[in-house]
Amino acid sequence: MKDCLFCKIARKEIPAALVYEDDQLVAFKDISPQAPVHLLIIPKAHCAGLADMTPEVAAAAARIPLVAAGIAADQDNLAGGWRLISNCGLDAGQTVFHLHFHLLGGRPLGGKLCQ
Ligand code: 5GP
Ligand code: ZN
Repeated sequence: MKDCLFCKIARKEIPAALVYEDDQLVAFKDISPQAPVHLLIIPKAHCAGLADMTPEVAAAAARIPLVAAGIAADQDNLAGGWRLISNCGLDAGQTVFHLHFHLLGGRPLGGKLCQ
């Protein structure tokens, strides 16, 4: 999508610290990290969020946990554990409406998913 921030990152029109890329997915560092490791993993194809997936986007997104596990296995400071989450919609706190999963870790994250 022309004016979507994460589409622009996927197309390399806006700089981001990329840590992984394949034909369907890109992972990059969050600009405002909430933990020592805070990455965003996105499908290259535009999709507003989990509620809007086409079967094609869902097939690409289904690979995200495996990609996350591969990234985590390469990072010593994720050896203690990590979290993979996607906020869907305003009540969930979604602020960028291109499907993305947060990969968080590097410190104990606590047990609460909401506050
Ligand atoms: P959401 O709130 O939609 O679940 O997550 C959006 C995330 O995108 C936030 O954690 C925010 O810090 C991150 N973000 C927003 N703009 C940019 C940007 O321009 N570059 C990068 N790398 N991350 C961004
Ligand atoms: Zn997009």
